[in-house]
Amino acid sequence: MIKNPIPWPNGARCAVAFTWDVDADSAVHAARPDSADNHVATLSFMRYDPEIAVPRIIDLFRRYNIPLTFFVPGWTIENYPAAVDLMLKNSHEIAHHGYLHHDNNAMSRQQEMEVLWQGIEIITRVSGRRPLGYRTPMISSNGVSRHTIDLLIEQGFLYDTSLYGDDIPYVLHNDKGSVIEIPCIQGLGDWYHYMSWCDFGYSAAIKSPTHAADVFKAEFDAAWEYKGMWMCVWHPSVSGRLARCTAIEPLIKYMIEKGDVWFASMSEIALHVREVISSGTWRPRIDQVPYYASPAPDAAAKER
Ligand SMILES: [Zn+2]
Repeated sequence: MIKNPIPWPNGARCAVAFTWDVDADSAVHAARPDSADNHVATLSFMRYDPEIAVPRIIDLFRRYNIPLTFFVPGWTIENYPAAVDLMLKNSHEIAHHGYLHHDNNAMSRQQEMEVLWQGIEIITRVSGRRPLGYRTPMISSNGVSRHTIDLLIEQGFLYDTSLYGDDIPYVLHNDKGSVIEIPCIQGLGDWYHYMSWCDFGYSAAIKSPTHAADVFKAEFDAAWEYKGMWMCVWHPSVSGRLARCTAIEPLIKYMIEKGDVWFASMSEIALHVREVISSGTWRPRIDQVPYYASPAPDAAAKER
C-alpha cells in the first residue's frame, strides 16, 4: 500500500519513534493569560508532566534502551530544569515546541518568528545544540499557519512533525529550500483516546488503556506490514498516568518480539531520510508549500 517505502537502516521493516509533548502548565498560561494563576486544578494536572510523569517514562524506556524525543516549549524548559536535565542525562532529543504553547494561527508572521527564535535560543543554551525538529504546540487543532513551514525552512530546521499529509516522511519545499515532514496519525495521539478536561474544552469519553493500546498496536502492525513508520504523539500528563503507562510496556515488548524494527529518535529518522535522498537511494514525495496563496475565491466571497 505504501508505493515508495523508505529503505530503513539494517533492512528494518519499520521505524518507530516514541515522541512526547511536554507542555507542563505553559498551555494554561497561554490559554488563560489573565487568570492562569487561579486555575489551580488545571495547573496541577499539567505540572504532573515534569514532576511525576517524565521521570517515570524515562525509567521505563531506559530498561529497553529506546531513545525518546521530547518536544518542550521554551517556557517549560526555563521553569522545569530538573526534568530537562533528566532528558539530557539520558541522551534523549529535545526539540522545539514553541515558547508558551501559543497558537501559530493567532499570531502574525513576525510574532511567530520571534517565538521560533526564543525556543531555538533556549534549547541551544540548555542542550548545547540547536534543535533539529519542530512540532506545533497546537497539534490537535491545526496550529500550523501559512507562515510556519516557511519560517522553519528559513531557520534551517531539518524536520517538522506537525502535518498529516502522508504515511511516511516526505518533503515540504518552497522557493527558499525544504524541510523533511514526519507526519502524524490521529490514532497515535493520546489526546484522542484519553483527554477529558473541560477547562481545555475536551469532554470526550475516556477509553481504557487496553482499547487505546489496541489502536496503537494496529497502527504498528500496518506500518510494519507496509514498511512504513510508527510515531506516537503522547503527553506525559496524559499517558504517563499509572494504568496508561503500564499499558506501554507490553506494546514495547510486542514490537521487539515482532522484530525488524528500528527504534530511533526523530532526528535520527530525519537524518537518515536526508541521507537516502542525497545519496539517490530513495526519492521522496514533495509537497510545494504553501498550498494556496489565498482562500479559494468562492469561499472568501461567501465569508464576506
Ligand atoms: Zn503541546
